[in-house]
Amino acid sequence: MIGLMMNTPLTIGQILEHAVNIHGDKHVHTILPNGKIHRYNYATLHKRVNQLSNATVSLGINQGDRIATFVSNTFQHLELYFAIPNTSTILHPLNVRLSAIQLEMIVKEAGNDIIFVDNVYADQFANLQDKIQFNHTILINNTNQDINNKDSSLEYEQFISEEDCNFSHDIQDENCAMALCYTSGTDGEPKGVLYTHRAMYLHTLAVNHVDVFGLTESDVVMPLVPMYHAMAWGIPFAAMLSGAELVLHGSKQEQIVDLICETGVTVAAGVPTVWKKHLPEMIRRKQEINTLTQIIVGGEAMPISLIRDFEKELGIEVRHAWGMTEMSPTGTLCTPRKAHEKHSYEKKLEIKAMQGRPIPGVQIRLMNGTDNILPWDGISVGELQVRSPWTVSSYYNTEPTLEHFTEDGWLRTGDLATINSEGYIQIVDRMKSVIRSGGESISSVALETYLMTHPQVKDSVVIGIPDEQWGERPLGVVVLATKNNGDITEILRQYLSNEFPKFWLPDKFVVVDELPKTGVGKTDKQKILRMIASRKHNTNGNDELNNTYD
Ligand code: AMP
Repeated sequence: MIGLMMNTPLTIGQILEHAVNIHGDKHVHTILPNGKIHRYNYATLHKRVNQLSNATVSLGINQGDRIATFVSNTFQHLELYFAIPNTSTILHPLNVRLSAIQLEMIVKEAGNDIIFVDNVYADQFANLQDKIQFNHTILINNTNQDINNKDSSLEYEQFISEEDCNFSHDIQDENCAMALCYTSGTDGEPKGVLYTHRAMYLHTLAVNHVDVFGLTESDVVMPLVPMYHAMAWGIPFAAMLSGAELVLHGSKQEQIVDLICETGVTVAAGVPTVWKKHLPEMIRRKQEINTLTQIIVGGEAMPISLIRDFEKELGIEVRHAWGMTEMSPTGTLCTPRKAHEKHSYEKKLEIKAMQGRPIPGVQIRLMNGTDNILPWDGISVGELQVRSPWTVSSYYNTEPTLEHFTEDGWLRTGDLATINSEGYIQIVDRMKSVIRSGGESISSVALETYLMTHPQVKDSVVIGIPDEQWGERPLGVVVLATKNNGDITEILRQYLSNEFPKFWLPDKFVVVDELPKTGVGKTDKQKILRMIASRKHNTNGNDELNNTYD
C-alpha cells in the first residue's frame, strides 16, 4: 500500500526559497579582483537569480540544455547555481584548470551552446574559443577591463538588468537533472556526473547533520574548494539552507587570511594542500583569525601532522571527509565517538586522520573481487563500494559498465580501503596508484602521509616506476621546507624505515621546487609520471628532475 503523504518535489529552488524567506538578511561576501569585498543579502541574490533565469530563457533554451560556466567562486557563480536549474536546464561548471584539449572534449560531449565566462579566466577561455564556437557567450566582468571579444558576447549585468525580478519555476519531477560535473580524470579521461535536484537536496540535508558539516545560522562559511569542482562539495547549498553567511574568495586564494579576518569566517573547506600552504600565515596572524573554529578537509588524505598543527597551534577543529564527484560528493566524515574520549591525544589524532564513517544515507562495503565481501576488521584491504540517493548510477552519455558499477548496483569507487569494527574507513590507495613490487603491494598514500610528518618535507608524492627485476619500484618526489645539505634519499629512507618494511622504501628521492597540482589542488600524479617518462627518454636514464613540470 502506498502511504498518504504529500509528494512535494525536492528541488534546488526550494533551498533558495527557504534561504530567502527565513534568512533573507544574511549576506554573501565576494572578494573582487581589486581586493574590495562585494556584499549583498539573500533577498537581493534571489531577485538577481530570477532576473538571470528570465534572461536565460530569453536566449531560447530548451529543457535539459547544458549551460556551461567558466567562473571562479563569486556571487555571480552562486546566482548561476540556482538560476540555471530553475529554468529546467542544467548547470555545467567547467574546470578552468583543464587543458584546452580536455575542455574541448568535455564541451563537445556535453553539447554546450551557452557559456558564462569570468574575465579573470579570459586567457584560458581564449584557448577554448579557438576550438569551439558557442552560440552565446556571457561575460562576467568584475574588473572593468576591456575583454578582447572574439564574438558578439553579452555582458552579464546588461544581460540581466532589464529583466523581471519574478520568475516562477515549476519543476515537478525532482529526478530532473540540475547540474553536470566532470570527474577530475586522475585515473583516465574525465567522466560526466549528472546530478538531480533530488540528489542534491538530500545531500544538502545529510551534510547539514550536526555530525557532518553541522552548519548553523550563526556560521560564516567559506568554501575554498572551487565552485567548478563537485559543486563546491555542496557547501553553498548547505550554508544557505542553514542560514549561514557565505564567503566567496573569487580568484584571490592568496588573500584568504585577510578574508577570514574581514568577514569573520567560522567554517572553511578545502584540500589539505591549500591548508598546508596557508598554515604559516595563519599561525602568524592567529589572533586576527580567532573566529575560525572548524575546517573541513578532503579530496586527499589529511596528514596527522597537519591536523595536529591546526588543532594545537590554532585551536581549529579538523573534520576530515572522503568523497567523490560521483557522490555529490560527500561519502564519509570523521568525527571521533564519545567512546574515544578516554584515548590519548595521539590516539585521537590517528582516528581523525582516518576518512571517517559513512554519513547518514550512505552505505559502504569492502569487496575483494566480485563476490567476496570483506570483514570490517580494520585489516582486510579491499575495494570500497558505495550506494546512496546522491551517488551516480551511470555516467553521462555512457551505459553503465562492470568496470564502474557492480551487477547489484553499487558504485566501484576505485579506492582501496580498510573498514574497522566501528565503521571508520581508512583509504589505503587508489587501485590504480598502488605500487606492485615483487608481487607485493606498497601504499603510496601511506608513504606520502608519513613523509609529510618529517619537518623538512613540505610536499611529497610517491609513484611507481617500471623496474625490470621487481615490476615496479617506488620513487619519492619531495619539496623541501629548507635547503638540505645531506643525502636526502638516505635521510628519508632512514625516516620511513621507522614505520615501513624495507621493500616499501623508495630507492631514490628527487627534490623539486614544486609539485604539479590538478585543477582542484590535488597532486597531479599522471603529470609527474609523464614527466619522468619523458625525461628518462630524453636523458638516457638520467632521471634528475628539476622544476620544469609545466
Ligand atoms: P574527485 O572526484 O576529484 O573528488 O576525487 C575523488 C577521489 O579523491 C576519491 O576516490 C579518493 O581517491 C580521493 N579522496 C577524496 N577524499 C579523500 C581523503 N579524505 N583521503 C584520501 N583520498 C581522498
